[in-house]
Amino acid sequence: MAFKLIDLPYDDTALEPAVSANTLSFHYGKHHQAYIDKMNAAIDGTDHADKSMEEVVAAARGSNQGLFNNAAQSWNHAFYWHSMSGETGTPSDELTSMINDAFGSVDELKQQLKDRGAGHFASGWVWLAEKGGKLSIEETHDGDTLADSDFNPLLTIDVWEHAYYLDHQNKRPDYLDAVVEKKLNWSFASENLARGTTWTYPS
Ligand code: MN
Repeated sequence: MAFKLIDLPYDDTALEPAVSANTLSFHYGKHHQAYIDKMNAAIDGTDHADKSMEEVVAAARGSNQGLFNNAAQSWNHAFYWHSMSGETGTPSDELTSMINDAFGSVDELKQQLKDRGAGHFASGWVWLAEKGGKLSIEETHDGDTLADSDFNPLLTIDVWEHAYYLDHQNKRPDYLDAVVEKKLNWSFASENLARGTTWTYPS
């Protein structure tokens, strides 16, 4: 069964000025769609065709790099769209408590997310994740993902150039500041923590 590109969970101007409708038209409409299309082409007629997206990612890891890249990027981008919102909400009491334990404060977590994103070499992803009741910031390179890891990812930020170049040119720190301070979806992070298992791509 072919995977469909998820609907964006907001209007295409909801993330401005951090992420413009113009960026979404390419990043969501072209890049994400292409990852989905290439994954679907690669699994069509194979024994991956009836798997969940998370199962495809796990099965392809280490054995089929082309399929892995497209499946992981399909998952990562869907998770990233949900990780942002025009209405950011606030961390739940449980999440706030764990943020305070791990980072000292929500403001310190935000600073560390920005610093890790700015310092990440070349393309990849920065994550807020939970494992064993503890929060940490994780980085994955290129298309790699936490979807099939033993972390429960709570939020992610895309630091590939295509995520920010149209709006912020080479100034990745400006993009990170705009997203982290104004557009992170704390309601989504709180839901992911409360569920206790990794978010799944809608089938
Ligand atoms: Mn991207």
